[in-house]
Amino acid sequence: MNVHKIGERVNRTADAVVIGGGIIGSSIAYYLAKRGVKVIVVERKPGLCFGASGANQGGCPFQLFTSPVLELITESLKLYKDLAEEIDYDIEYYNSGSLICSVDEKQRPAMEKHSLAFQQKGFNVRIVEGKTIQELEPILGKDVVVGVEDEYSGIVNPFKLTYGFARAAQRMGAEFMLSAEVKDIETSRGRVTAVITDKGTIKTNVVVNTAGAWSPEIGKMVSLDIPIIPRRGQVMVTESLPFNRRWRYILDADYLTIAFDAEKVAKSKDPRIKLGVAGSYVQADSGNWTIASSRDFVGFDNKVTMQTLRYISERVIKFMPRFKDVNFIRAYAGLRPFCYTDGLPILSKVDNPSGFVIATGHAGEGVTLAPITGKLIAELITEDKTSMPIDAFAFSRLQGQ
Ligand SMILES: Cc1cc2nc3c(=O)[nH]c(=O)nc-3n(C[C@H](O)[C@H](O)[C@H](O)COP(=O)(O)OP(=O)(O)OC[C@H]3O[C@@H](n4cnc5c(N)ncnc54)[C@H](O)[C@@H]3O)c2cc1C
Repeated sequence: MNVHKIGERVNRTADAVVIGGGIIGSSIAYYLAKRGVKVIVVERKPGLCFGASGANQGGCPFQLFTSPVLELITESLKLYKDLAEEIDYDIEYYNSGSLICSVDEKQRPAMEKHSLAFQQKGFNVRIVEGKTIQELEPILGKDVVVGVEDEYSGIVNPFKLTYGFARAAQRMGAEFMLSAEVKDIETSRGRVTAVITDKGTIKTNVVVNTAGAWSPEIGKMVSLDIPIIPRRGQVMVTESLPFNRRWRYILDADYLTIAFDAEKVAKSKDPRIKLGVAGSYVQADSGNWTIASSRDFVGFDNKVTMQTLRYISERVIKFMPRFKDVNFIRAYAGLRPFCYTDGLPILSKVDNPSGFVIATGHAGEGVTLAPITGKLIAELITEDKTSMPIDAFAFSRLQGQ
């Protein structure tokens, strides 16, 4: 893909510059290009997906979320249905549904409450128990006693999704400058005027910050404090196993606490919970399973640790005993962009400088939210309004805190 040779300096102009070639940057580039905007994406690595977008599981869960993220997820999952056709790229999306399971009877009341809350909103999210669980998903062991099933979740290949958006954007005129690092942003009279990269300057009046865990560095270039920190996650990959059926996206009920209740995690005395380990299991079309995940705050350290892998392994064997003899071939870690103030994404213009747009903080749901994020940010830039409310994600909510 692209484009400009390493070392080549280019000076050019664009209607909009997107900083960061992850899933969020690619999606925004696509939806902007579709609206006729001349967009350049600047990515410092030699390809796309070098950040969190290349270190996730491609799960698109529905029932993990509450309002206001739930409304975004609902719309994003609708966009996923025809996305492959729309961008003319096989993104390996499958509407799998999900099953959140528990190996602990004590979690049953909380899971019943969880499913009821969705039912009251009109969603088909239901409790399953006993043998029905193993009938639904024969890979689950007998220790799994209760689950909550939804029909809306999906699974996608995150690399294909990112490159699919990028290629579709390119066909409509978008450019991707790879191996090009943004060093500064120029402003004049309170509005952005140019992006300075180590490969040259791009004159523009619109800059979109999609630099993920690194978005605060971009914010500093225009004197903004963006409250994002990296939240590390670790993943194990198995050898390719027979792909004789499509599994639902299987998650561990502890995920609901670990991902969304920082206080409970901090108070827990269980070292597994402290390391943020809760099961999340996906079989990709290649047959390889990704076995995850963990959540901890260790700065920009994206190393894989034996202790966390041990907890991840123990957990998968408890849920899916047949994995005890499965060969795992590699492990990796990535850095989720996490808003430490309230855990919500930031999808917003800012007042000063004008022309500066932020689309980050997608934490553990950036793949799921990528289509709707691209669509809404493109609307915001071209029409100054969006087809659904995004006030809850405004940058202004974070200022002065
Ligand atoms: C272990 C793990 C599992 C996950 N599982 C899921 C899942 O199943 N489902 C889901 O929905 N989400 C999942 N996520 C979350 C998801 O991966 C992220 O929310 C999403 O990838 C964030 O995308 P992004 O484009 O904002 O950031 P990134 O993908 O991190 O992209 C940011 C890019 O900006 C570039 N950049 C930074 N600074 C500069 C600069 N100065 N100049 C140029 N470029 C720059 C970086 O090189 C990087 O490529 C998971 C994350 C992890 C870590």
